[in-house]
Amino acid sequence: MLLCPVRDCGLALAREERRVVCSRGHSFDAARSGYFNLLQPQDKRSKQPGDRVEAVQGRRRLHDLGVTQPLLDAIEKLAAATREDIVLDAGCGDGFYLGMLARKAGFDAHGIDISTAAVDAAAKRYPECEWIVANADRFVPYADRSFSLILSITARMNSSEFRRVLRDDGRLLVAIPAPEDLVELRGAGRDRVARTIETFAHDFKLIEQRRATTVADLDANAVKDVLHSIYRPLRSKPAEAMRVTFSLDLLLFRPT
Ligand SMILES: [Zn+2]
Repeated sequence: MLLCPVRDCGLALAREERRVVCSRGHSFDAARSGYFNLLQPQDKRSKQPGDRVEAVQGRRRLHDLGVTQPLLDAIEKLAAATREDIVLDAGCGDGFYLGMLARKAGFDAHGIDISTAAVDAAAKRYPECEWIVANADRFVPYADRSFSLILSITARMNSSEFRRVLRDDGRLLVAIPAPEDLVELRGAGRDRVARTIETFAHDFKLIEQRRATTVADLDANAVKDVLHSIYRPLRSKPAEAMRVTFSLDLLLFRPT
């Protein structure tokens, strides 16, 4: 199911002990934590693309506090995944959503992200899933029609690649920040729903839409973690305990 990411290759990668290899001999070793790094030099935007360790750790601490549990519950309901699903999380970050959903539903789970720090954290905590470092903006390194469900949770979106790797009877769940998300820290945001539906209009049609919102009383350290996770440099005064809103618009699509 995995494809060789070397430019102009794209052959199937066969799994061997601790590595994957294509029939042209391109091979990729498993990292110590078990993930595969398929990121090619031309796919990197910077030396260390994606989330840095501090952002990954901050986000994981927020998940571990239970702050995002209501968002996970809403995603679980709308995705309605079963044991039979084969699931891709494109832009999986630290693996929280995919890892937790997979443990509950028992499906076959695959997560990709461009950040090595994020994928390493995901592989350490959820070793039962497959974790890949890759740039999904360019190429999702899986064969056509590999998945029955794709998740894109506050991640970058690649409509044509999502369509290519999704089965014709599959579904796509996209989560985007709603206008009230972190409103206390960055003010009201834009409503991104219409633009997102437009982004996928060529390949997908919207079949269901929900908004998930939760409010959490955070201490100063947790507020600092939120600020790190959204790349806001800390203001001159130290972060203070405050009540913070987390809100996602959830869009469920089917292929057209
Ligand atoms: Zn190859």
